[in-house]
Amino acid sequence: MTTATTEPSEVASELTSLDRCDSCGAQAYVRATMPAGGVLLFCAHHATKHREKLTGLGAQWHDETAKLHASNDRSI
Ligand SMILES: [Zn+2]
Repeated sequence: MTTATTEPSEVASELTSLDRCDSCGAQAYVRATMPAGGVLLFCAHHATKHREKLTGLGAQWHDETAKLHASNDRSI
């Protein structure tokens, strides 16, 4: 079998509507995992604002803002 499969860990780590931005409380679409193990959640707006600084500190950047755009297109 050479079929590529999605890694289970990737699916399990998806953000949900229960995840909230640590800065403003809006729905979170980005998760930053710090090298020390701390996790920060951000809405699209605050993700953009903090991204450069946090990735500079070595944070793992999990971005699901594409989902946000996809659902907007379907809201008609
Ligand atoms: Zn926010």
